[in-house]
Amino acid sequence: MASLAILGSTGSIGRSALDVVRLHRERFQIKALAAGHFSDLLCSQIREFSPAAAAVRDIDGARELKKLFPALDVRSGDEGVASLGGFCDITLLAVVGVAGLMPALNAVRSGKRLAIATKEALVAGGQIIMAEAQKNGAEVLPVDSEHSAIFQCLAANGRKSPEEVASLIITASGGPFRGRKLEELEKITPSEALEHPVWKMGKKISIDSATMMNKGLEVIEASRLYSIPGEKIKVLIHPQSLVHSLVEFRDGSQLAQLSLPDMRLAIQYALTFPERWNSPLERLDLAEVGKLEFFPPDPVNFPSLALAYRALSEGGVAPAVLSGANETAVEQFLKGRISFNQIPRFVEKKLDAAPRIPSPTLDDIIMADRFSREPA
Ligand code: MG
Repeated sequence: MASLAILGSTGSIGRSALDVVRLHRERFQIKALAAGHFSDLLCSQIREFSPAAAAVRDIDGARELKKLFPALDVRSGDEGVASLGGFCDITLLAVVGVAGLMPALNAVRSGKRLAIATKEALVAGGQIIMAEAQKNGAEVLPVDSEHSAIFQCLAANGRKSPEEVASLIITASGGPFRGRKLEELEKITPSEALEHPVWKMGKKISIDSATMMNKGLEVIEASRLYSIPGEKIKVLIHPQSLVHSLVEFRDGSQLAQLSLPDMRLAIQYALTFPERWNSPLERLDLAEVGKLEFFPPDPVNFPSLALAYRALSEGGVAPAVLSGANETAVEQFLKGRISFNQIPRFVEKKLDAAPRIPSPTLDDIIMADRFSREPA
């Protein structure tokens, strides 16, 4: 039986992860849960799974929790959440944003498995996370559907031969505004942008999908996870979201992974790898689907993707600045303070002004993140 810490248990990935655990009660034990705030949902998760420890970022929430569950090891603040990284056999990291960096580092330093859904942590500090994972013999398993697809295609080929990989092809649904022009995008409201055509997700990632920054972050994430340079990572628009990504090999062969879009598949594989377990999820019937479509991305009307490629090729703290500036701009957009098209403009300004630090330390990354959040 594997012990499991779910950091970000009340978010959409966390809830799906608990669904996977419900399917395999006899093989997983939830030992720790963490969330941003105290909530009824968190309390009911604690009642259902009886973890040994729980953490919430807000201090008052932690007090409430301790009152309700006196026997529970309650931790608080960013440090409290981070302290649960590496606490169990598997850490499933699904907190939003760069707040995931410290728990990710603690998890890989423990030498245990990190199943990572927090793309901002990999984007900002991916090189450090992967280096620490290698040093400590920790496994880093992707939870993002695209990266899980790539992982599965590489595993199918035998992962020992990176020189055989010609390119990674990351698919994108194109978001709710595919085909629209910049002038139309200027008037998009937060509620329109939150309606994703395929995936039901948290607010931050839904906006990122609408701007295509999500795909940009995923390009950087893939580069970090698989040590593949940006020039060898392509983006392909695929509105049906059934082909989750592909790998092209040097002989021209392409391998793809397909399934109905359901996060629980990638989550379960990250928990059970190298095994595949049963799953009651609905099966893909290609005859019923009939037709799959593919298009090139639109860099003119969706400039965020190019900004991500730029940050990846600049290296240093540029990806951290890209991610932090984007998080800030998305918050401002959701509050109605800036327009949809101002999100990439804010990110670009921050990239222009970013310090050049070739081999950043963790402190450099944290400083760059802070810099990226100041008003432009
Ligand atoms: Mg994804």
